[in-house]
Formats: sequence, structure tokens, C-alpha cells
Amino acid sequence: MTVRNVIIIGSGPAGLTAAIYAARGGQDPLVIEGFQAGGQLMTTTEVENFPGFKDGVMGPDLMMELRAQAERFGTELLTLDVTKVELDGDIKKVWVDETLYEAKTVIISTGASANLLGLKNESRLMGRGVSTCATCDGFFFRDKTIAVIGGGDSAMEEATFLTRFAQKVYVIHRRQGFRSSQIMLEKAKNNPKIEFVLDTVVEDVIGAEGVEAIALKNVQTNEQSQLPLDGMFVAIGHTPNTKLFIGQVDVDSGGYIITSSDKTHLSATSLPGVFACGDVQDSHYRQAITAAGSGCTAALDAQHYLEG
Ligand code: NAP
Repeated sequence: MTVRNVIIIGSGPAGLTAAIYAARGGQDPLVIEGFQAGGQLMTTTEVENFPGFKDGVMGPDLMMELRAQAERFGTELLTLDVTKVELDGDIKKVWVDETLYEAKTVIISTGASANLLGLKNESRLMGRGVSTCATCDGFFFRDKTIAVIGGGDSAMEEATFLTRFAQKVYVIHRRQGFRSSQIMLEKAKNNPKIEFVLDTVVEDVIGAEGVEAIALKNVQTNEQSQLPLDGMFVAIGHTPNTKLFIGQVDVDSGGYIITSSDKTHLSATSLPGVFACGDVQDSHYRQAITAAGSGCTAALDAQHYLEG
């Protein structure tokens, strides 16, 4: 059994930046990138705020570039899901089903996943009108009427993107105030295809084979109503993908991995030799560029650890 220097779990901007740095540092990293590789940027449209791309770049294109850059310096990539880890001790153990991989350090960069509303018929109609990914599914809603749920940047971005296909997009948000940045909110507000329905929650999705309507309640008046439509996009935030690591590394109340506040090893977790970067440890900034920056930090921290 080869004991590697570094295994990186996850392949968003954080994991692949860690791979670029670790590979260039001579650590021959193995990235176990997950069956659905590339992280959240794979389901994002245009990224306008990643430095170096003055005209913007499509999320999947950016990830392909990062992946190719990591491979160029000798990163090994495995497009499978990690199923189990044992991270204490000097040699870390990482399983993909029955296959065991061992390393002196592990960098966790498993990101975060989209939250659902928890409605009775939401999961049943997932992929049949309910979606968490406008880029993946928007195409199916040409000339249709759809709703986007949420009041953050994701909701504004998805609503604006979906107007390329849909004839009408409702943004349904549970209060008057928004979490989204002013610029993205204004862009959505100025779009003639978008109508805002505020102080309103979705109580269920209605439809036999596909979405036919959503049941709404105004939280100020308690008035209930039904809005006929063809699709519902849920954009209400994310949950960190830390299930594999719970009970091994310390996480906060939201499930995010706790990393060090010591400036000399910012990505260190509660376990020696285990580092975390990207959205799995960041509930606040959650940007591609901050994730990439933290990936660099994690690779350098791992390198310093390996050097003793
Ligand atoms: P977010 O900022 O956490 O916003 C989530 C929204 O969903 C909030 O408006 C929240 O309402 C609402 N919500 C949460 N749970 C709900 C529920 N159960 N029922 C109804 N509504 C619910 O999440 P996000 O929009 O995914 O953005 C996350 C981060 O990514 C942010 O830092 C954002 O800036 C960034 N981002 C950036 C871009 C970009 O720059 N291109 C694009 C997308 C995301 P309340 O406000 O009432 O809590």
C-alpha cells in the first residue's frame, strides 16, 4: 500500500487550487473528486467576479481549466465518491467502497449542497418541475411560467437566468428584506419578466406527474392562495457536505468544519494533518475566489505539516 503525501477530497475551486499548489510543491496529490465533480460552479452560468476574466467565464469552463491546470502538474484524479474515512492517527485512511487509500495528510474540500424547503410533494416532483439548478434545467422551461424561491444572490441569479427561457418568473420570498447584493437585486427587479411576491411562503407543490401550481401563504395576512405554474426552482441556501467527517473533525452548529484562527495554519482542523478549505468550512464568504484562496492555504499548510 502506497502512503501518499496528500489526498484531497472534493474538486471545486478549493480542492483543485489545493491540488495545483500541492502538485507544484512535489506532493503528488490524489484528488478524489466525487462522482459529480467540479462543485457548485458546474451548475452556475456566467461568473463575472473571478479575477482574471474581464469578460466573465462560464462556471463549468472555469472548472475545466482548473482541473486541467491541476493535471498538468501531475495531480491524479479519481471521479468517485469517498464512502468512509478514518482521519485520526499519523496515517489517514480514505475508502472508496472497498478500496482503501492512505495518506499522511488529508485536505477536505467537499463544499456544500442546495437546501430544500421540506414540502410534502417537493421530493416526489424533483426533476419533474422542481429543481435546485437553473443552469441544468432552465432549458426545459421555454415559454413556461416558473417560480424561484429565496431572497439571496442565488435566487436573483437564477431568476434572471431563467428569463432567458421562461415567459414569466415569480420570485417568492418570505419577507420584505433581501440577503442578495443590491446589484443583483436591481438586475432582477428591472427585468420585465420577473415579478416579486414578498412576505410569502410556499406550503406545497401541486401536481400529479409534473408541477401544476404551488400553494402559498402570505405570512402577514395568513391568506392562502394557489399560483398556477410549470416549475419551481428552490434557491434557499446550502448545507455543508460534512456527513463523512462528523465525529472525527470538529464542526460548528451549522455543520461547517471549524478551522484554525491561527494565521500560521488557517486551514487546520481539530485533527493534526487534516485540513479544510472552501465552502465546507466557510458559511460566510462562500465565493469561488475565497474558496480558491483557502485551497491554496490548505495546500501550503499540508506542505508545512509534511515538512515537520
Ligand atoms: P443565502 O444568501 O443564505 O440566501 C438564502 C435565501 O433563502 C434567504 O433569502 C433566505 O431567507 C431564504 N430561505 C432560507 N431558508 C428558507 C426557507 N426554509 N423557506 C423560504 N426561504 C428560505 O443563500 P444563497 O443565495 O445561496 O447565497 C449564498 C452565498 O453565495 C452568498 O454569500 C452569496 O453572496 C453567494 N452567491 C454569490 C453569487 C454571485 O456573486 N454571482 C451567486 C449566488 C450566490 P431569509 O433572508 O429570510 O433568511
